[in-house]
Amino acid sequence: MNKIQVADKEFEILLEKDIINKRTRLMGIQLNVDYENRCPIFIGVLNGSFLFMADLLKEITVACEVDFIKVASYKGTESSGSVQDLLGLPNNLHNRDVILVEDIVDTGLTLKHILEKVHLQKPASIRVCSLLFKPAALLEPISELEYVGFEIPNEFVVGYGLDYNGLGRNLNDVYRAVGSAPMR
Ligand code: 5GP
Repeated sequence: MNKIQVADKEFEILLEKDIINKRTRLMGIQLNVDYENRCPIFIGVLNGSFLFMADLLKEITVACEVDFIKVASYKGTESSGSVQDLLGLPNNLHNRDVILVEDIVDTGLTLKHILEKVHLQKPASIRVCSLLFKPAALLEPISELEYVGFEIPNEFVVGYGLDYNGLGRNLNDVYRAVGSAPMR
């Protein structure tokens, strides 16, 4: 039950959409409190964050701006270890309160790469808001990782924006690969 097939892999449910929606609402409330009377700029990391970004932003009541960047680091189910910029950062981040919105933090390499570039623009503050976090896969601590929806085991997941070889982003729930050994 609750098993699905995406391309050649079988997946089972890990987080249902109701749980994701509730957690997203709470994260939004927290952000509204923390950024009261400021005007943060939310930067979504494409492609994986697009659904989370949309749902999170619907909960934000403080004045804010929204932008996106696009990077690529994964091939199939493994991090390629190198990060490619496909759509660059906005160049108006000086003195701004920046909130990077990620789908998942795994090794942290993607985030480290993006954070280095954001810091160069000398923003007033930078924090990261990620729906998912795999603590067991993280290579170095990331002090900017302030808001985490769910800590999950070190397994490959798909759905709610996250893909397996381009497929599965449209699923409403998050699924884990069945019978897969921990990734690293
Ligand atoms: P990191 O650089 O932290 O290793 O990986 C970050 C990016 O890799 C995420 O933004 C996401 O696109 C992708 N990623 C990491 N873990 C997973 C996973 O379990 N499933 C999917 N579909 N993508 C992942």
